[in-house]
Order: sequence, then C-alpha cells, then structure tokens
Amino acid sequence: MSTTHVEVEETPVDPVGDGASPVAPVPVKKPKPTRPNPRLVKTGPPPPAIWHRRRNVVHALCVAVFVALPFFDVMRFDIPRQRFYLAGQEIWINEFSIIFFALLFLMFLIVGASMLYGRIYCGFMCPQMIFSEVSLNLEKKLHTFISKHFRKWSPSVRRWAHHVAFYSLIWIGSVFVSFVFIAYFVEPRDLFWRLMSLDVVTAGGIAGAATTVVTFLDFAFVRTKFCTTICPYGYLQGMLGDDHTLIVHYRAEANECVECRKCVRVCPMGIDIRDSPYQMECVHCGECVDACTQIMDRFGKESLIHYTWGEKGELVGAGRIPLLRRIGLRDAKRVIVFAVIIIYASALAVALTLRHDVLVRIAPVRATLYRVGDDGRIYNTFRMTIANRGKEPATVGLSVRDLPDAVFTIPVDALTAPPGDEAKQEFEISVPAGQLSGGVTHFQVVAEAAPSGTRDEFDMTFITPMGDRTQ
Ligand code: SF4
Ligand code: SF4
Repeated sequence: MSTTHVEVEETPVDPVGDGASPVAPVPVKKPKPTRPNPRLVKTGPPPPAIWHRRRNVVHALCVAVFVALPFFDVMRFDIPRQRFYLAGQEIWINEFSIIFFALLFLMFLIVGASMLYGRIYCGFMCPQMIFSEVSLNLEKKLHTFISKHFRKWSPSVRRWAHHVAFYSLIWIGSVFVSFVFIAYFVEPRDLFWRLMSLDVVTAGGIAGAATTVVTFLDFAFVRTKFCTTICPYGYLQGMLGDDHTLIVHYRAEANECVECRKCVRVCPMGIDIRDSPYQMECVHCGECVDACTQIMDRFGKESLIHYTWGEKGELVGAGRIPLLRRIGLRDAKRVIVFAVIIIYASALAVALTLRHDVLVRIAPVRATLYRVGDDGRIYNTFRMTIANRGKEPATVGLSVRDLPDAVFTIPVDALTAPPGDEAKQEFEISVPAGQLSGGVTHFQVVAEAAPSGTRDEFDMTFITPMGDRTQ
C-alpha cells in the first residue's frame, strides 16, 4: 500500500466504505504523509469476526454451566442445611478442611489464570459481563424493531413502548438469573416452591426477592459500569499481570490507522484501545480486534489490534512457537503456578475420592466408668454417631474384637441413618464379672456400613472394677 498524497474534499467521507464510518463533512486539511491511501484494495464480504464467534460459543457454554452447577450439585453451598456440594459429593460443614481446600483452589485458579491470560475471565466467562451484553443488545434490537415496524407511532409512544418492552423482558430475565443465583445457596426445588408461593417472608424468600430487584437494577441500568466501579477483579488484575500476560494491544508502527473508530464503536466498555493496552476498563474481549481486522482487510493489511503476550511479546497465534509458550507458559514463574494448580487439583480429587459417604464415630461415655448389673455383668456405655453423607439410607453393624464374651446390650446392629442426616445412639457392652482382670482392657469395636461397605475399627477401653467390688 502506498502512502501517497490524499486530498480530502469537503464532502461526506467514508474512508472504508463500510457505511459504519462517520459521514459528516470534514474540513479541508493537509493529510499526513504517513497515512495509507484510503483507496480500498478489497471488496466482498469481510473476514469473519472470529473472536466474537468464539465469545458467543464460550458465553453459551458458560450460561449452561452457570445454570447446571447448582442443579446437579456440582458446586453449591446449601446455607439452610449447612452443606457444601462439590462434584456431586455432599460435604458437611465439619469437613471444613475440604471446603477450605476447594475455595483455596478456586482462588488460586483465578489468580493463576489472571497472571497468564489477563482479563479473559471478564471478557469471556463472567456472568455479569455476559448478561450486561445481552441487556445492551436487547435494548438496541428492541429499538431497531420498534422504529422499523411502528413508524406511524409518534416518537414519544415509540419511546414508551420501548421502555415497557425492555424493562418487562429484563424483569423476566432477572427473575431467572436470581433464581439460579440463589439456587447456589438454597436447594433448587425448595426455592422453586418458595417462588411459586411468592414467599417474601422466610429468609430464602426475602433473599430471592432482594436479589431479583438488585439484578433488575443491575441489568437495566448499571451493566458494564459494574466492571469499573464495583467489581474488585479489574483492580486486582493490575497487580496480577506482568510483562508476559496476555493483553489486547494496538500496534501501528507505520501509523496505518485510518481513523475509522470502529474499534471504539464496538467496544462494550466504550474505550479506545489505542490509548493504552492497560486501561482498567478493558476486559480483553477482542471485539476491537475483529473490528480492526475487518477494516484493515479492505486495505489488504493485517489488523492493527491483536492479542499479544505482553506489550513487547509476540502476537497470539504468530509463527512457529513452542507449545508451552503458545499456551502462555513463558517463564519459570508461570510453570510453577501451573504445576501448583495441577497438584492442587489432583490433591482435591484424591481427597474427594478417599472420603467415605458414611462417617462413624464411637466414643466411650465416661460419666459413669462402669455399671455392675443385677445379672453380675460389668457394663460400659458408649455413644455412636453415624453421619450419612450419601444419597441412600446407611445401616451400620457393630462387632467387638479382643473382648471375650462381650455382648451388646442394645440391638444396635441395624442402626440406620437417613441420607444426608445424622443418627446418634448410646449403647452398652457388657462382660461377665471376673472375666477380666480389674482396671482397663483394650479392645476394638468394628463398624461396617451398608450398602457402602465402609469398615472402621475403633480402639476402645473397657473399665472393670478393681479388687472385689464385683463380688
Ligand atoms: S485501530 Fe483499526 S478499527 Fe480502530 S480506528 Fe484504527 S483502523 Fe479503525
Ligand atoms: S478495548 Fe477491545 S478488548 Fe478491550 S474491552 Fe474494548 S473491545 Fe474489548
């Protein structure tokens, strides 16, 4: 492309001929000699907006995941029942170590992803961003639809029709989004019946109603302003990124920009990426990359805006790059972060695999050390707790080892705990007087849970009186 002199007449100018560029008369001025000739070298359809398409696919997947997670107990914190659900497993609040570990893993994942890929989460995965864009697009499309189909209506009637339609649809969407959001904290079926009965009295109902109102205000009025005013992640990103973090970068060494400003018009955050790649508002969505690709393609040139690995790093997808560098592992620090994430994920998976659905605890009740029965036997009391974290009823059978002639004095061999609940039972073990030498005898209680088949052994002590107190 030559950089020959260009006369700009005092007539409407559309430098790229896509109809999207400003058409207002521009004053005559000396063109900059470095500007490319705005004569188009290419006609026909523009190249596909690949980042926009990728985002749409990721958005659809993210909405599906956002909705599915609480309904299939993949991740949910049931506040009324004080249970944490992770990967289909019910984790009780007393298993705090796993909950803590899972939350720490999530935090580490976010920090690691931000360090490697910048604000990709914001641009591609964040529900706030996704629903804000849906709201913005809906508003625009409704406006176009009403203007096109109801031309005979007066402007004020059209404006009112637009408001009514837009806010009604946003309200319906807000009820749905709030329902899914609250389902992360209240069991979805329970929540559904609360919604059906228009419950605004219980804590769950009040939380649902309040969330719906806040969501409505958010998606009707706040939208992408949330990202720059309320959400702390944007601020955090500034601290997590470094010279190799993925960014969206404007590079025009030969000053080839045709000033069409399409990159600015498509930006959901309303910024100009040419000012700096480190603007707090930029969510790295790539819409400006697509816009510039389509504009510059008309001039037979590459886009001036790219995803790059840092301000000085190479373009994403450029040339032959080793696999590790291509996926963002560009220095030792990143490899360590990646390795820690893998180790964390593996350890979490092992911890979840090793935990038992049925947790049995047995402890002696030492309010009374022993009891001498009328039958001449010595009795010790124990307490058993069965925590059934599975989805089926669990029964626990007990037996004794290393305590000759021991008898369970309460029929506890079929003690049942309902799913997701706890059962407690006190029982006694007796031995014939004189069977044991006085004092403390060590033995084991064996607990076997069905249907899981979990088997636990507990070291216990049996106390018998000293001397002739049983005679
Ligand atoms: S950077 Fe690209 S899209 Fe933005 S004004 Fe320049 S040519 Fe147009
Ligand atoms: S500047 Fe580009 S990448 Fe950043 S938010 Fe705007 S359109 Fe998205």
